[in-house]
Amino acid sequence: MLMLINGEKVPAASGKTFDNINPATGKVVCTVPQGGKEDFERAAVIAKAAQPAWAATPFYKRAELIYRYTALVREHVDEIAEAACAEGGKRIEECRDEVLTLCMVFETFTEAAHHLYGSTIPLKAESRTENDIIFTVHEPLGVLVAITPFNFPIELYAHKVAPALVTGNAVISKPASDTPLATYLLTELLWEAGVPGGVMQLVTGSGKDVGDWLAETKNVDAVSFTGSTAVGSSLLASGAKEIRRTFLELGGNDPFVIFPDADLDLAVSEAIGGRAHNAGQVCCASKRFIVHKDVKDAFAEKLVAALAVRKLGDPADPANDMGPLINEKAAEKAMADIAHTIDQGAVCLLGNRREGAYVWPTVLDQVSPASDVAKDLEIFAAVFPLISFETFDEALRIANQTSFGLASTVMTKDMKTAIKFATSVKAGTCVVNGTGDYRSVHQAFGGYKHSGLGREGTSTTLREVTQEKNIALKDILR
Ligand code: NAP
Repeated sequence: MLMLINGEKVPAASGKTFDNINPATGKVVCTVPQGGKEDFERAAVIAKAAQPAWAATPFYKRAELIYRYTALVREHVDEIAEAACAEGGKRIEECRDEVLTLCMVFETFTEAAHHLYGSTIPLKAESRTENDIIFTVHEPLGVLVAITPFNFPIELYAHKVAPALVTGNAVISKPASDTPLATYLLTELLWEAGVPGGVMQLVTGSGKDVGDWLAETKNVDAVSFTGSTAVGSSLLASGAKEIRRTFLELGGNDPFVIFPDADLDLAVSEAIGGRAHNAGQVCCASKRFIVHKDVKDAFAEKLVAALAVRKLGDPADPANDMGPLINEKAAEKAMADIAHTIDQGAVCLLGNRREGAYVWPTVLDQVSPASDVAKDLEIFAAVFPLISFETFDEALRIANQTSFGLASTVMTKDMKTAIKFATSVKAGTCVVNGTGDYRSVHQAFGGYKHSGLGREGTSTTLREVTQEKNIALKDILR
């Protein structure tokens, strides 16, 4: 593959490349340009020049291009899904779903943007403005860099690119180095649909180089980043000099609390549906299972029985339930995290097994609330640490004893307990009787504390990627 800059498919200025490897087979999927500062800056200068004409394009024309785009994507679902499956090791069915979700996200943001109304402000408070009218309009921010992680390369591209483009911003997409190919295909189709080549661009290269460049450039107005908290924090710091809007969707270590009256079969299926999705590499997956002591053993038994029959294998084969992790290094890290949790007193009931990039679902019992996994250790694999509690307050305290706050779950038949928990837990979402791995395009998705800054969804992002201008009609009523 090549980079997509200014309407042309180009190699890195340095000519350097790196190989993208399929984690399931170890085979090379594609060769990727190793872009550097020179390439990123070139794309930003081009975006800066192209953006005003895009912003001046009537909204209905931009919307037409988006609808043409989603029609094209639907014609290429299989090709894009196969690319995502090969580069990321994600199950083919999940990849197909993700492509269709992208279409829905682009179309829903476009529909919502029809209603990005300004306001008319009543001016009766001060004597000197009583003959004036103020109305407001939303203008794009300018050039937005969209940095996406490996785990949802398609859906998260949609959540960043759709609202930014439809409101008149220019976008530079920087995909994760592990998953650039589906992003390339999706960006190519935006060009084919008619989005100008300077308005939508794709640069590839190491995250560190992008970070170093962002710390210096004056040609970027906003960064929308999804990934680890450490990198998000560094982007916030480096953007401060330019007063750059920085939107952050970061890590999580979300609680899944089971009260004694909960439907345990439902708890098991929701726990697995969320935690084993994408082989456990989901930001808002429930990652700490806080279970009332009276039902902990029964839950553990049902969970182990259900996980033991899951089939791991080639993600391109729909018969398999789980594929590999993103690469072998990630699998080694997950195994080290499991070993560390066992060192801190946990007892392994299932799993703790790896082959290449595959990590088997792992259930860890008797996890102490004082152990790292019960606080801030986010394990990116299908690992189920079980922590028991006796009282509501204890459950809430354990749930909140983390510096993250992305999502959360409460399982109970008692709505009073559910709502009391949901309104007290420090997290951006609380799902009642469902896994925390839950996201609607309309909600203001995002995290409390170190899980993020800003929100993604049609209810918020269109306002975040635009700025509100006041137009004051002085003495218009005199
Ligand atoms: P990561 O290392 O932070 O990488 C994410 C993206 O940032 C990649 O494109 C990466 O490029 C780039 N990057 C790396 N270092 C950078 C730097 N110094 N400056 C600018 N960009 C840089 O994250 P990850 O570990 O792959 O992703 C998993 C994390 O993301 C987990 O913590 C997960 O919870 C979180 N996540 C959050 C959400 C959410 O919506 N809140 C969604 C998904 C994932 P390279 O690939 O080239 O390094």
